[in-house]
Amino acid sequence: RVNSPPGYLEGLNAEQRRAVETLDGPVLVLAGAGTGKTRVLTTRIAHILASAKAYPSQILAVTFTNKAAREMKQRIGVLVGGAVEGMPWLGTFHSIGVRLLRRHAELVGLRSDFSILDTDDQIRLLKQLIQAEGLDDKRWPARQFAMMIDGWKNKGYGPADIPEGDARAFANGRGRDLFEAYQNRLKTLNACDFGDLLCHPIRIFRAHPDVLKEYHAKFRYILVDEYQDTNTAQYMWLRLIAQGSHNVCCVGDDDQSIYGWRGADVDNILRFEKDFPGAVVIRLERNYRSTPHILGAASHLISHNEGRLGKTLFTDLTHEDETKVMVHAAWDSEEEARAIGEEIEQLQRQDHKLNDMAILVRASFQMREFEDRFVTLGLNYRVVGGPRFYERLEIRDAMAYFRVVSQSADDLAFERIVNTPKRGLGDAAIRQIHDYARARDIPMLQAAADLVMTEEMKPRPRKSLTDVVENFRRWSQLLENTPHTELAETILEESGYTAMWQNDRSAEAPGRLDNLKELIRSMDEFESMRGFLEHVSLVMDAEQNEDLDAVSLMTLHSAKGLEFETVFLPGWEEGLFPHQRALDEGGRSGLEEERRLAYVGLTRAKCNCHIWFVSNRRIHGLWQSTIPSRFLDELPSDHVDVAEPETSYGGYGAASAGGGYGASRFDQADPFTRSYDTPGWRRAQVNSNEATRRNWGSRSGHAVEHVGYGEADSGYGA
Ligand code: ATP
Ligand code: MG
Repeated sequence: RVNSPPGYLEGLNAEQRRAVETLDGPVLVLAGAGTGKTRVLTTRIAHILASAKAYPSQILAVTFTNKAAREMKQRIGVLVGGAVEGMPWLGTFHSIGVRLLRRHAELVGLRSDFSILDTDDQIRLLKQLIQAEGLDDKRWPARQFAMMIDGWKNKGYGPADIPEGDARAFANGRGRDLFEAYQNRLKTLNACDFGDLLCHPIRIFRAHPDVLKEYHAKFRYILVDEYQDTNTAQYMWLRLIAQGSHNVCCVGDDDQSIYGWRGADVDNILRFEKDFPGAVVIRLERNYRSTPHILGAASHLISHNEGRLGKTLFTDLTHEDETKVMVHAAWDSEEEARAIGEEIEQLQRQDHKLNDMAILVRASFQMREFEDRFVTLGLNYRVVGGPRFYERLEIRDAMAYFRVVSQSADDLAFERIVNTPKRGLGDAAIRQIHDYARARDIPMLQAAADLVMTEEMKPRPRKSLTDVVENFRRWSQLLENTPHTELAETILEESGYTAMWQNDRSAEAPGRLDNLKELIRSMDEFESMRGFLEHVSLVMDAEQNEDLDAVSLMTLHSAKGLEFETVFLPGWEEGLFPHQRALDEGGRSGLEEERRLAYVGLTRAKCNCHIWFVSNRRIHGLWQSTIPSRFLDELPSDHVDVAEPETSYGGYGAASAGGGYGASRFDQADPFTRSYDTPGWRRAQVNSNEATRRNWGSRSGHAVEHVGYGEADSGYGA
């Protein structure tokens, strides 16, 4: 073993090997997608263990998701032969933070059994505090404040650190006091929020040098994957810990920084060399993942960004029947889903595994069309990094209303929404309905109807419940002769459910409203409310088994670090991708982040990459002509082909959809077709551009769907 290199080093190229073997001192691996950064980290850990430089418990390794941590642990096991015992410090920033904090909770006034608040708890607590201050929580919404606090914590700020301007921005200058009150309240509750999982340890390390020293001695080697997406607090945390051994290895790609909207800061890459003088910087330029066409398309696209560190990438990979990146047009999203479904079935017939295919969407609402299609086709699929469309909170709530309307004995559904939105029907009232129903063996809705006729209820809940009962009675009557999509809209309007999200200024509210619209849209395809509900129960029943061969469906954000033989990228239209909210709120840097997201999408593909755009999308219930994404213009024609429109899946749509490199290829005389005589993908019509912009831009508030523990999410509420 001393003479010949150990097996795990075999097959690495010279630069990768250097990155693995340079164990001492700071190392920064800065390299493009698919160059083996993650593989380097994994091999490095194997190397440390195999050469007995450290015990598993002396290695601190940070991944971006919990899933990535599990996979890394498993691969290390394979490399060193046999299961790796321990590795307790391999995980996300959050999971490592919890571990640290449990050990030293008392130093920040907590007990080691502290609880971690989820976003809902956090908001409830903030709301109490805002109200206790005598402030109007409609004018100063708790959700908005929760977002501000997250932002501060991403920067490592405590109440004393926030800049004056920030402190003034909330509740007429009472932001700082509220923040402080919130932190105190958390302490009393023996609880912390996600941000504290990083901020508390930082505080501990700063105030207790002896504790920090302990970790300096403990962590011999520190490794960080997806380094480009660390935020300031994470960086501070890392720097504190790494000042001990200095054996810190970070790998990242500035072109894949896609969490700027959540506080990630690419400049941490530049800071690294300053804070760790003498750092060895290693560049990997050989891509092992993708074919030259895919890599060529991705590299050319990303070259349109200005703020880049810049790098070259090459690949030797060749594939027998190598194809260019394909761009396809469809009439609308239904046709897009149908065509992609057919392509997948075709591949399956040619013995390709569903596990090797993925559909990566920009916004989560896009998933609905695919999920429905796959259920119809009987294709297994899995949604990665988030709930399936019909499992989302707002969709379940809406469905609960529809279920009670069409089947009044559905008590589970009734219980779910009887007090959503809030109507002053507290636990006591609900228990009363429940008991009444039990005693008489009748459904809860009927019990409610009977109860409100008695004197048994308190006046206020009785009034609310009367309204609820009355509403359901009216909606059930409408069931027979009102079109079901119209009825669905009416129900969500009249129940106050839509309004609840419209009034909600939180990050995720716009995305939820999009999903509700998509839900209503999807009902169109069914004859009746009942038919639709049946369909959904089938979708929900579809197996979500990890071991099953299944197509992966996820947002582009969740796809970071992953790879698939075939990748489908639907919805490349202006307003959707790049996303209008990112443009509105981020300006040029917003656009560049969207472009990096496109780069991430393309570079997930090993062999085949299919981009789609549709000519028409229904937005807010209205059909809109769409404009192909500007990113299509930015693809190099020598690596990209435009698919001939297929007519096999029928309809006028396929033939009229179009676009193309400087040619008006699909310019048939068709009432739905517009002229395509401008070069590139873009349509001449400024008007439709304006319309799209108006519709996508009209929702205010940027939206961030928070998922705890550093699991990926979707950005700008998409
Ligand atoms: P990303 O930026 O997308 O996270 P990455 O730089 O982390 O990509 P990896 O996922 O580590 O890249 O590697 C990409 C693919 O190339 C993987 O399938 C990996 O196993 C393979 N690979 C990496 N290095 C080599 C090598 N030296 N020989 C053969 N295959 C390799
Ligand atoms: Mg990686």
